[in-house]
Amino acid sequence: MSAKGPGSEPTLGMDPVEDTLRRLREAFNAGRTRPAEFRVEQLKGLSRFLQDNRQLLKDALAQDLHKSAFESEISELLLCQNEVDLALKSLQAWMKDEPAGNNLITQLDSTFIRKEPYGLVLIIAPWNYPVNLILVPLVGAIAAGNCVVLKPSEISKSTEKVLVTLLPQYLDKSCFAVVLGGPQETGQLLKHKFDYIFFTGSPHVGKIVMTAATKHLTPVTLELGGKNPCYVDDNCDPQTVANRVAFFRYFNTGQTCVAPDYILCSPEMQERLLPALQSAITRFYGDDPQSSPNLGRIINQKHFKRLQGLLGCGRVAIGGQSDESDRYIAPTVLVDVQETEPVMQEEIFGPILPLVTVRSLDEAIDFINRREKPLALYAFSNCSQVVNQVLERTSSGTFAGNEGFIYLTLPSLPLGGVGNSGMGRYHGKFSFDTFSHHRSCLLTYSGLEKLKEIRYPPYTPWRQQL
Ligand code: NAD
Repeated sequence: MSAKGPGSEPTLGMDPVEDTLRRLREAFNAGRTRPAEFRVEQLKGLSRFLQDNRQLLKDALAQDLHKSAFESEISELLLCQNEVDLALKSLQAWMKDEPAGNNLITQLDSTFIRKEPYGLVLIIAPWNYPVNLILVPLVGAIAAGNCVVLKPSEISKSTEKVLVTLLPQYLDKSCFAVVLGGPQETGQLLKHKFDYIFFTGSPHVGKIVMTAATKHLTPVTLELGGKNPCYVDDNCDPQTVANRVAFFRYFNTGQTCVAPDYILCSPEMQERLLPALQSAITRFYGDDPQSSPNLGRIINQKHFKRLQGLLGCGRVAIGGQSDESDRYIAPTVLVDVQETEPVMQEEIFGPILPLVTVRSLDEAIDFINRREKPLALYAFSNCSQVVNQVLERTSSGTFAGNEGFIYLTLPSLPLGGVGNSGMGRYHGKFSFDTFSHHRSCLLTYSGLEKLKEIRYPPYTPWRQQL
């Protein structure tokens, strides 16, 4: 099932990736993945993979990201397991044809929507939740009856290794494959024809993926990122806000696509928030966060350097320390940042939280609406009208009032961006629908021709008047 990137593992006169794709397509065309029993078997295999390799996966996540066992459990393994369990429980219902309505002339016909698999699906994943962001889409793709090529991130190397060496042992090798590679190999892979591409990553690479998909008119889901605003109203308890924002900002060391990226608040609220944020950070990570087992590390040197550069924006109010040898960046809060500075121009994707002051709710909403539509938006206020105003007058992929991204634990709420933060959605049944073509079907009798004849030309005068 596993195939290295093109050129890295030559087989006799044949590109191994091409060979893999041909094998998968043949399996799909032979109808191998269509029966519900096959899908159940594969989902159970995936479940066994998660259970048998729990510790190995946690170790790999610790090696890649210094992820704590608790964060690995709740944001990677448990979420995957829950998705598998839900798919197993719901598969029969999801697969059922959906009855459709009739009109006068189709009264005797049977009309329904059939959920059919697309065929050969490509799933490309990033490094920040390298288990969750490849296996959760895989659950939907299997449930919907597709053959799948998985392309994990080459940056989270330890997790990539577990996926390529062990996952194939739990799935049907003729229908599922893990292909390795970085930008160049993925670019080669994208030249092939797929029936659906599911991409999670940056908007920049999302455009590359979409451009490649255009050539074959392949539909895509793009789960992208961006800057997620967090509005904090004056009418708030600063400590409650600080606890919640700090938890979700510094979770996975800030390397989360839906993390609050910056705070918008009044200068008065900023003064109240700073000691509260300091208190939350000390409570979560102690006086010396570098020695805390609960704080991760920056994925690699390149991102460390990028984040270290951002520490020079505005003024450091909390934290600001870094250690290159350990790829450590302290949980940091910046103030007095200018809109034009890099920290307010690019997605931070690290443990840095800038505070930007605004004079009113209107100014905050204007600030948000002048930018690309974010993946996530947060509003904190004791007053529900304020939260509702932010919800009503802005747009984003997801929204939470007085909370962080806890909604990711609910398969009943889809994850997906809008505008620059992506297109399409998944989780729970939304994943199944994403990986299914919704085919409109009408079946009628070959008899009853006398009744049907009324529609044929020549159009008699009374029909001309209709
Ligand atoms: P990335 O876009 O650099 O890489 C994602 C995947 O694309 C990787 O598998 C990589 O190998 C591949 N890739 C990279 N460059 C490529 C190229 N030129 N051509 C073809 N493929 C290429 O993203 P990343 O750094 O791995 O992840 C961080 C980004 O992902 C952030 O922007 C973050 O917000 C976003 N993200 C979004 C979600 C979501 O659910 N919306 C979740 C996690 C991360």
